[in-house]
Amino acid sequence: MRLPSADELEQLEDIEKQWAVKAMHHAETYFKLISAIDPRQLRLTNIDDEILKDFEETFPEINVECLDEKDFKTPAAKEKWRNFMNKYEKRVNEYNFGSLIRIDCKEDYTEQNTMFGVRMQFYAVEIARNKKGLNDGLRQTDHCSSLPFLLVSFNLKSTMLGRSAFKLLNRRNVIALGAVATTGGALFLSSDNKVHAESNKLKFWQSLPGENTPENPGFAKLRGMAAEQRFRTSLAQNNGKTDFDVVIVGGGIIGLATARELLKRFPNMTVAVLEKEREVAAHQTGHNSGVIHAGIYYKPGSRMAKTCVRGADLMYEYCKQNQLPVERCGKLIVAVDEKEHKQVERLMEIASLNGVKDLQILNSEEIKKLEPNVVAYSALYSPNTGITDFGLVAQCIANEIMQTGRAEIKLAFEAQKFESKDGRVEIWGGEPSQRGPTLKVTAKNVITCAGFYSDRVAGLAGGDAGRAKVVTFRGTYYQLKPEYRGICRMNVYPVPSGGGIPVGVHFTPTVNTRRGIQMIVGPGACLTFSREGYTFFDFKMEDIFGSLTNLNLWMFALKNPSLSLGELYKDMNKRAFLRAAQAYVPGLTEDMVEESFAGVMSQVFEKGGIAANDYILERKVMDGKILCVRNAPTPACTASLAIAEMLIDTATEDFEWEQSEKSIEGPNKVQQLSAIAA
Ligand SMILES: Cc1cc2nc3c(=O)[nH]c(=O)nc-3n(C[C@H](O)[C@H](O)[C@H](O)COP(=O)(O)OP(=O)(O)OC[C@H]3O[C@@H](n4cnc5c(N)ncnc54)[C@H](O)[C@@H]3O)c2cc1C
Repeated sequence: MRLPSADELEQLEDIEKQWAVKAMHHAETYFKLISAIDPRQLRLTNIDDEILKDFEETFPEINVECLDEKDFKTPAAKEKWRNFMNKYEKRVNEYNFGSLIRIDCKEDYTEQNTMFGVRMQFYAVEIARNKKGLNDGLRQTDHCSSLPFLLVSFNLKSTMLGRSAFKLLNRRNVIALGAVATTGGALFLSSDNKVHAESNKLKFWQSLPGENTPENPGFAKLRGMAAEQRFRTSLAQNNGKTDFDVVIVGGGIIGLATARELLKRFPNMTVAVLEKEREVAAHQTGHNSGVIHAGIYYKPGSRMAKTCVRGADLMYEYCKQNQLPVERCGKLIVAVDEKEHKQVERLMEIASLNGVKDLQILNSEEIKKLEPNVVAYSALYSPNTGITDFGLVAQCIANEIMQTGRAEIKLAFEAQKFESKDGRVEIWGGEPSQRGPTLKVTAKNVITCAGFYSDRVAGLAGGDAGRAKVVTFRGTYYQLKPEYRGICRMNVYPVPSGGGIPVGVHFTPTVNTRRGIQMIVGPGACLTFSREGYTFFDFKMEDIFGSLTNLNLWMFALKNPSLSLGELYKDMNKRAFLRAAQAYVPGLTEDMVEESFAGVMSQVFEKGGIAANDYILERKVMDGKILCVRNAPTPACTASLAIAEMLIDTATEDFEWEQSEKSIEGPNKVQQLSAIAA
């Protein structure tokens, strides 16, 4: 056997130390949790039940109450465990990470009662113990929190480094490593102490909003449809009609809500929604924080302010009626010092002018009562801010409009050319990135709601392409690992600091069909090199050129240099990213989070590099036949149902539609659900 070189030896030792610190941190947090709350309620992974079933079937011989090391350490046992664990490689985060496992479930992590294993073994054993109530007794015991872990650190220093290293190296090297471990012990211990000092401050909520809500039939059905993707197939089953009263370009929440409003108000009209992707809500609508904003930040009297306050009410009502997941979990906007407190006071004034209800300014003690892990000088508390899954809302609206029998959603139809002919608009297009076949639909009027392509689509339709140019920013999110998810339970935001763009890493609980119940941290706001720049490496020459030649963006960047460079750095560096959140949740550490999704947000900069702070419409394009939405950034999901009202009001006026006296409501809930089930 080749002996490792000095460099390799050093690396191995470093890796061992990192493992040890992480494993101890993990063990400590876990032990605190099961000593504080009912372990039967605890979820360690998203698939606890599946792991338990598999474990009990694969290892019926293991007595989880008191483990026998033979069941883990013999060659046959190791092989069996390896096969068991490999199934979870892509499904359980850090599935093979070194972990500490208690031998006797009634005891702490003492030197004698701790063995070293991997994360899947830890999960299998502890999920079984929790579900069987074997850990219940720990809550009655009075534990001194640091003592067991100091013992563990001793154990790790003397035993784990040696023991696990033994597997890697021969005896001579163990002696060498042992010497390094002893001298490295002080270092090791001090970094360990720091971790403990930080995590000692944290208290975790047992559950997040929506977690204990019994699932309702509407949500379950929609989720089933979304998961199986039958929903999008059913949308594709349109009847091939090509002539409509109105065509809407863009199957995000704005386009869909506008189609719904139009069908409600005009019982005889027909509408087609053209969407370039193979599903609705594929871009901004399906990749965002999911926050139902109360209307706090927006300029009083602006479209944004008015539609947000009304839109939030409509959104809560819509979710309730359609049994979609929604939680009025509240929000804190925190100030970390006196200077930021002035911003909190200012926000209170603005929000009151906007008609936002039930706001309160809290001091640090009052904040602690609501969110024990938040350390702040003061906060604006908004109990009516909530969360939902806007992607699911959009799918529900899509389903609703299809059921009227007067609408079609044409997927994989990218609108590429608009022409005026015989008093109607011809819209030509096709599947994106394909040369053919060319598709055509015609309509009396067109409304464009194309998200981060709104400037280009408006330009194609005959609008002013040079105006309201879109710039895109990638908003990357992290999420708390399952065992740390309860770090807070409501939205916690910093005061706004983005020079007018919605920047600010915040904590948000999610009730998302695709991503589940999570606590997300984010987003950043990093300039993208492609309009669909979901990752750092997405490049598109046309888009880079567009940004480089956008003078207003340059002026914004020059006025906010630290923001521009800082966001770029944050996008690439997890530590820098989390620092923004640690400013008000100081107990958050890097190893508590894992990567989550990214969304790309559309932003328009006006003359002088000022971030547009209202929705922008371009009216009476192509001889008065087209209405273009040119800017609909956050909180457009919250406001979507109210924006739809505003757009149909505008269209009615511009296109001189005759408003029927009797508007109709969309199909009722029972009809919708039976349609979904069909
Ligand atoms: C990271 C992030 C966080 C956010 N957080 C929140 C939040 O918490 N709360 C909130 O209210 N809002 C939030 N927003 C804002 C919100 O998501 C958007 O404002 C909203 O989704 C805009 O909807 P839309 O329909 O205009 O755009 P999109 O959802 O982007 O839809 C536009 C659609 O048009 C289609 N399209 C484009 N060009 C064509 C073409 N030529 N032919 C056919 N189809 C075309 C696109 O494929 C796309 O599906 C967030 C946004 C981001 C990115």
